[in-house]
Amino acid sequence: MKVVEEEQRVRVMDGPWSPEEVIREIVDGGVQEDPFYVMDLGEVVARYHQWRELMPRVEPFYAVKCNDDKLLVTTLAALGAGFDCASKAEIELITSMGVPPERVIFANPAKMASHIRYASAVGVDLMTFDSETELIKIKHYMPHARLVIRIRCDAADAQCPLGIKFGCDAVSEGPRLLKLAAVLGLDVVGVSFHVGSGAGECAVYARAVALSRALFAAGAAAGHRMALLDVGGGFAGGTGSDLHEVAGVINSALEQHFPDRSVRVIAEPGRYFAAAAYTLATMVHAKRELLGKEGDEESHTMYFINDGVYGSFNCVLYDHQNVRPRPLQARSDNLLPCSVWGPSCDGLDCVLPAASLPALAVGEWLVWRDMGAYTIPVASPFNGFPLPTVKAVVDRRLWSMLRELWPLSAAGLACEPPRSDIGATDVVSDGSDVVSDASDVVSDAH
Ligand code: PLP
Repeated sequence: MKVVEEEQRVRVMDGPWSPEEVIREIVDGGVQEDPFYVMDLGEVVARYHQWRELMPRVEPFYAVKCNDDKLLVTTLAALGAGFDCASKAEIELITSMGVPPERVIFANPAKMASHIRYASAVGVDLMTFDSETELIKIKHYMPHARLVIRIRCDAADAQCPLGIKFGCDAVSEGPRLLKLAAVLGLDVVGVSFHVGSGAGECAVYARAVALSRALFAAGAAAGHRMALLDVGGGFAGGTGSDLHEVAGVINSALEQHFPDRSVRVIAEPGRYFAAAAYTLATMVHAKRELLGKEGDEESHTMYFINDGVYGSFNCVLYDHQNVRPRPLQARSDNLLPCSVWGPSCDGLDCVLPAASLPALAVGEWLVWRDMGAYTIPVASPFNGFPLPTVKAVVDRRLWSMLRELWPLSAAGLACEPPRSDIGATDVVSDGSDVVSDASDVVSDAH
């Protein structure tokens, strides 16, 4: 394998493969010391098609904040997804790839003035608001914006509740804000909500769609042409998570409250697309045996790995994720009490305070599935520890279909010769300015 200094790398495979096999092959020579992700491009494509199949009326606008890996956003752009951007930099990333501004919603109800000016300059005119101050700000910086009022409707339980920060009350505040927008001469075109990220309840979407219907009526009464419903994010994304139930709830709520097909329906899924596609590989680089004292905790082993809460495992602190490792080397040893720590010198840098793993040697690798959501964009190289790189893997057939969607010259992609040993091809991409148009060419990809 030719090693190249590039931001992204795609490995094209013939036949079935698993992240563990790819990890094993990468670490087997004993040279690899830094953590890395194996990204399954086929998983992203399969999820996109599942979404379109189960909710044909709901257009996904991927929430870039969840994972801004260029390969992921490029793939979604090529498939035809829209994008939810929260800032100038996210809008810049997406529009610089050639995604037309009409496929972007600036879904941050509290925007900075310069970010609004930037959105205006690049033609992103769809944006959310939930307060009087924001309306006045938008009136000042972008009076021609198409506005979407964000209402609050919280899932009974969510990994990350968002209603505490955003969303006006649909009854006591919404109608007044819609009237104020009309007085200011601003166009409100729709309603949005976010039930909470990692929502543990499906029925909440039905409640939120019903509330949105009432806001459509209030908007129309205030003189707005209401034509867009944005059902936000909150969809599960881990391996084995199922979209069927929530899709059923949303589809029937739409039938009941928005039977008119002229109302456009979009969503802002983040972790649904990102979580399961990324598997993280980390190495144990040090360990310490703690001998339990009488009356004290039982003895256990402290494992130090090359990624921690300042890196990928920030998701433990910020996203309240339950992360679970498996040793790359499968074995039937007894499980022993242990804790897992990140590489920095901070005592806070604890990934798992109490875990059970077989006895691990220094140099052994741990595999962490479902690590694609709210990990990579938040990570910092604190203490000088490098952030994990991403090795993307894709089936040869899917790759040739994706290549038709991605203009290779624009993408700066270059193929390496096929590898004779495992029948794989390494492809190098700098992941920059990629997609100009999109279609749903890739149908049975995974
Ligand atoms: N839209 C908005 C406005 C958000 O704040 C978020 C997450 O914080 C998302 C979409 C994505 O949510 P999820 O990853 O739960 O789908």
